[in-house]
Amino acid sequence: MFNLPTSSTTLLERLTDEIISFYESPTAVVPQVTAGQIRTHLQSFDFSRPMDAERVFEEVQYMMRNWNVQITHPRYFGLYNPAPLLTAVIAEALAAVYNPQMAAWSHAPAANEIERHTLRFIAGKLGLPPDTLACNFTAGGSEANHSAVLVALAHRFPETLEDGLWALTQRPIVYASELAHNSFDKIVKHTGLGLDALRIVPVNDSLQMDVNALRILIKQDQDAGRLPFMVVGTAGITATGTIDPLDAIADLCRQYDLWFHVDAAWAGAAVFSDTLRTALAGIELADSVTVDAHKWFNLTMGAGMFFTRHAAGNARAFTVRADYMPPSEDDVTVPYLSTMQWSRRFIGLKLFMALAELGEEQIARMIEYQAGLGEYFRERLAQAGWDIVNETPLPVVNFTHTHIRTGALSVDDVLARLYAEGDAWISSVTLRGEKVFRMCVTNFKTTRADIDSLLNQLIRLITT
Ligand SMILES: *Cc1c(COP(=O)(O)O)cnc(C)c1O
Repeated sequence: MFNLPTSSTTLLERLTDEIISFYESPTAVVPQVTAGQIRTHLQSFDFSRPMDAERVFEEVQYMMRNWNVQITHPRYFGLYNPAPLLTAVIAEALAAVYNPQMAAWSHAPAANEIERHTLRFIAGKLGLPPDTLACNFTAGGSEANHSAVLVALAHRFPETLEDGLWALTQRPIVYASELAHNSFDKIVKHTGLGLDALRIVPVNDSLQMDVNALRILIKQDQDAGRLPFMVVGTAGITATGTIDPLDAIADLCRQYDLWFHVDAAWAGAAVFSDTLRTALAGIELADSVTVDAHKWFNLTMGAGMFFTRHAAGNARAFTVRADYMPPSEDDVTVPYLSTMQWSRRFIGLKLFMALAELGEEQIARMIEYQAGLGEYFRERLAQAGWDIVNETPLPVVNFTHTHIRTGALSVDDVLARLYAEGDAWISSVTLRGEKVFRMCVTNFKTTRADIDSLLNQLIRLITT
């Protein structure tokens, strides 16, 4: 045996301390650091000789605590990056200890069946039929969306699996709204469809996909001999938190025989809530769905989910022959034959453990609590005379102020000063040609006091 210096139990104790202390009170939200400073610091790691493990630990701790935006902080009101549940941190450690190889079912029966059990439960909440279901964990929403396009192609144009897109004499077309996630730009490039095959559908006054415009675009493409095959509806637009009219899009897809994909990366978790799930009506009609467990399920990064009601198309898209792999069993899902990845970590454990520990009711409450804080922020903003420019039951608030609309101040100036103070983080987006603020509640530890603190700070920045 090759003897390595082992990490001591002291180090494990320090790890536990760090998990607890950082989990309870992360440091300043916004770091003040440049790439140059970090690179200079990293010069001392030339890897030429071993370094004491505790020292390495402390160095990492220092850099992570001081030089990152702390997305687990209650006043990080940013992109869909949650504070993780402590269970998720523990699940990550357990997954690492056993390090099961998920690719072949026979290598990891327990891990694969835990994932299957968890995914099928979520699929049930989404309202997808169990009989013809295929589902798997992915690195994130981007991979799940990519899987959707691949499966839709395999389902609609099986001839392309052998001959590629050359098999088609006309151009296949995908539709998504102008506010859809930009992962689709990458996906059409990576699949060989090309950016010109992604039809950008305008949004209506409520910032939802304009279904009439969609219908016109589909007809135009059909008349020109192109091959419309897929529509992406978004539940929880990244910029605005709005939800496309899923029911109406599903209708149109049925009428024109198009694949209906719902990108519910963030808002998919809202199906757990009786009050919020009505906003996602129509998701149960989807041919495929993306949901990120690392977003509103409040778990650590690297946990996307892909669901499709077309197991046959899914198998067609991903199956291969590999003689060096163990033989496949009947009646089980073999990930390397049914997903994009091959070797991968035990992603599903954290969702399984969170569901088991909390139960679905508490997950629903956790989500509703955050939606309620969004509502609270909207009320407070309105009282203070700010303008809210989006409409959604979900906790994403786009807003601006007369001082900005009249040009006295810019959104960028206000944000620069907010970041310099380091106490809270929000972002900006451009909607209908106007740059506005974007605030999102993504943390179950955020309180009304945190919201008040953000608003007071914004009021001060806008008036001084
Ligand atoms: C976050 C997000 C994605 C991308 O997911 P990743 O997990 O970052 O890969 C796609 N679509 C929507 C609507 C998102 O919010």
